[in-house]
Amino acid sequence: MNAQLSPRSNVMPLEFAKPVYLSHSSSTLYEVCPHKYKQRYNERLESTVTGVSLGYGSAYDEATCAFIVAHALGHEGQLDPVAIFEEKFEEFARANTVGYSTTFNSKEACVASGKVLVAKFIESWLDHGYTAALDPEGKPIVQRELRVKLAPNVFYTAIIDVLMMTRDCEMLLADIKTAAQASDGSFHLNAGQLTGQQLVVEAHRDALGIDGVDGLCFYQGLKKPIPKPARGGKAGRGTGPIVLDPMVCPPRTGAEVQAYVESRLWIAEDIRRGRFPKRPLDAYNTPCSELCDYRQRCIHGDSTGLRVRASRGKPAPSPSIDSSGPAPF
Ligand code: SF4
Repeated sequence: MNAQLSPRSNVMPLEFAKPVYLSHSSSTLYEVCPHKYKQRYNERLESTVTGVSLGYGSAYDEATCAFIVAHALGHEGQLDPVAIFEEKFEEFARANTVGYSTTFNSKEACVASGKVLVAKFIESWLDHGYTAALDPEGKPIVQRELRVKLAPNVFYTAIIDVLMMTRDCEMLLADIKTAAQASDGSFHLNAGQLTGQQLVVEAHRDALGIDGVDGLCFYQGLKKPIPKPARGGKAGRGTGPIVLDPMVCPPRTGAEVQAYVESRLWIAEDIRRGRFPKRPLDAYNTPCSELCDYRQRCIHGDSTGLRVRASRGKPAPSPSIDSSGPAPF
């Protein structure tokens, strides 16, 4: 059958439309500024300088997840997650031109902070009595990339940090994050990233060997610098790195998950229709700050400091989600 435009409805059957691949971060980037999304995902432009937060967060993920896997398998004595942070951050610093910040102005400052934060995460994990759940093959469900089909040719991917069991045998889906500041105390109740993760986990529950999740967990580490010692040997100002108590809430309702799916489909429709307006908002809440890598290009047409990102391989097939309700396209 040929992909022909219907003269009456002027729509193209989705099977023939270009696939749209979304994740939570790409779709929220679209929500922040569609023009920014276009440059990042369609034109594949990125800054030649990589922010220090990316390296810190990735090294923290690698170190904490290596510990969680080893702990679930009873091998935690055989690795040193603190050393993993240092090694991974060093690798990041070697491979990238790093944009350090005023808070973290050197590799040494990052490594010193990250090592303490990883040690505090391990303490917190053990204190809470968590352990990673195992899939039917006996593998810990940690850093698992899962993809679903939201509609024909619309795919959504999420990487699950960890599915973990509490002491009371409750199954929690946890998002492990580093942040400069603690989030609002009720952020996790609405966080789209957790909703998206629940969506993909529930779609893959047979493969994961679970019935569902009993709760969602937002597990934050605050990446604070190590306080400098004050004069006279007194303790310096500042708290240093902290791991906050995990914020736990019930799973999203079916209606909440469905609303999230619909919101992603609307974004997919806008992307497919080529709607990429600039979204500068107002002076008090504009995203057009130095934090936007495309600012010079967007405002002055100057692409200095940008390069084309290498492409990833094609994703594997995905289970379908029943996004019941009228098709948005
Ligand atoms: S400068 Fe503003 S409008 Fe332009 S891409 Fe960045 S966020 Fe969007």
